[in-house]
Amino acid sequence: MKENIMGVDVTTLNEQQLMSRIEDDIKRFQKVRIVAINPEKIMMAEQDLNLRHLLNESTYQIPDGIGVSIASKLSGGIVKGRVTGIGMMGNLLALANKNEWKIFMYGAKPEIVNQAARNIQKKYPKLIISGTLDGYINDTQQIMKTINEVQPHILFVALGSPKQELFIKNNMEQLHVNVFQGVGGSFDVFSGHVKRAPELFLKTGTEWLYRLIKQPSRIKRQWALPLFLAKVVTSRRRTRKQHS
Ligand code: UDP
Repeated sequence: MKENIMGVDVTTLNEQQLMSRIEDDIKRFQKVRIVAINPEKIMMAEQDLNLRHLLNESTYQIPDGIGVSIASKLSGGIVKGRVTGIGMMGNLLALANKNEWKIFMYGAKPEIVNQAARNIQKKYPKLIISGTLDGYINDTQQIMKTINEVQPHILFVALGSPKQELFIKNNMEQLHVNVFQGVGGSFDVFSGHVKRAPELFLKTGTEWLYRLIKQPSRIKRQWALPLFLAKVVTSRRRTRKQHS
């Protein structure tokens, strides 16, 4: 149920299958770890073996952004559509709301995480926000203690990548939590400080274009996508040659 794109695993489950898996996992008290995979991370993982392990040892690697599904198609794979990191967080919030589960939000600036928590509680009144912590506290022992006191079903970690993935990897054993998700800048979006693209861009998979228009300095980051796709195509050719 996974496909390997240039060394990095990506789930081939669709959004619905993934969510019912995770619901089951939580009900069976399993510990699962969700990581969003995008072209930037795949390119970084090509140079950095530790990062590659960090991504591949997660339970579910979700195809965050259109770049990953295009890459899959180009290499003959079946990853369809995308499950963005923030979309996944929304799905988990809905699941928590349905089951009246506890969530914990760790990361971002204090006013951001608190505002995001208030907005989330309004939108999902039945879930329980068991705690919030900002992402600029350095006392890991205190962070662990605070989270373990409330034992949330789902922990969202918003420290940016790979900091959040490292936090999860290093501490998940000791944390009494079922689902861990690194969510990057999602608290900023839920707080209302950063706007997501209008529906049209989301539906057509062109959120990157909207972000580029709003923030032209992103061009440096976005160059990664065409470079990445070119690499996928050439590495596929190379693999084919080796097999012929
Ligand atoms: N952040 C944090 N602690 C840190 C560094 C970053 O809490 O030491 C937060 C930051 O305030 C922001 C998020 O992590 O809310 C990173 O968002 P970004 O969009 O950079 O993450 P990406 O999704 O690009 O990895």
